[in-house]
Amino acid sequence: MSSEERREALKLVYQQARGCMNCPELAATRNQVVFGAGNADADLMFVGEAPGANEDRIGLPFVGQAGKLLDQLLAEIGLSRPEVFVANVLKCRPPGNRDPHPVEIEQCQSYLMRQLELIEPRVVCTLGNFSTKLLRGDNAGITRVHGQAEVRTIGVRAVRLYPLFHPAAALYTPRMLETLRKDFSRIPALLAEPAPPQPEPIEEVEPELLVEDEVRAIPEAELEAAQMGLF
Ligand code: URA
Repeated sequence: MSSEERREALKLVYQQARGCMNCPELAATRNQVVFGAGNADADLMFVGEAPGANEDRIGLPFVGQAGKLLDQLLAEIGLSRPEVFVANVLKCRPPGNRDPHPVEIEQCQSYLMRQLELIEPRVVCTLGNFSTKLLRGDNAGITRVHGQAEVRTIGVRAVRLYPLFHPAAALYTPRMLETLRKDFSRIPALLAEPAPPQPEPIEEVEPELLVEDEVRAIPEAELEAAQMGLF
């Protein structure tokens, strides 16, 4: 797909997410779905946890204090928000900023997977425990794995996955901020590395075409049911 086609496909995923009712509690309490924002063709993508109150009000990710810190850290490595794409594990705010429930992560996962597939980032920075555990497919905590880049296949694509402390946690812990800043400083080198080799594409099997006689042999009622997607 060309980058324009991927961008258009991403917009369709956004339209779908906007009306999502998969998590009844989140759908009932959100002001809006926070899909993610930035360059739809970014080499660098950040994945946080879930929108907070500010994000839920404005409709964009990381617009509060943690977002300001993210902007500052990006500026320190010569990058800005419009150059990267920022998303979250959950697209809706959990009420009272509670932790995402496992079932919500599961329900929301396909949106993030589609984002990763369509944006095609080369480097994905997970921010904090939730996105790190989800995208590494492992229960290791952020304190253990932060700052360690690894090539991981997520869905259909291989990316350089780079776990980082969550900026909201670093806001109140100077030592964590220092570590986050140090880990951030390695991002330009990761971006300069060649794109990781991609897995072999899974071949799509063409459905066998029915020969004309077989088409005629299908009773009309069955054909109608098939057209209505009832099979
Ligand atoms: N924290 C997150 O994880 N995501 C946001 O969008 C804002 C704060």
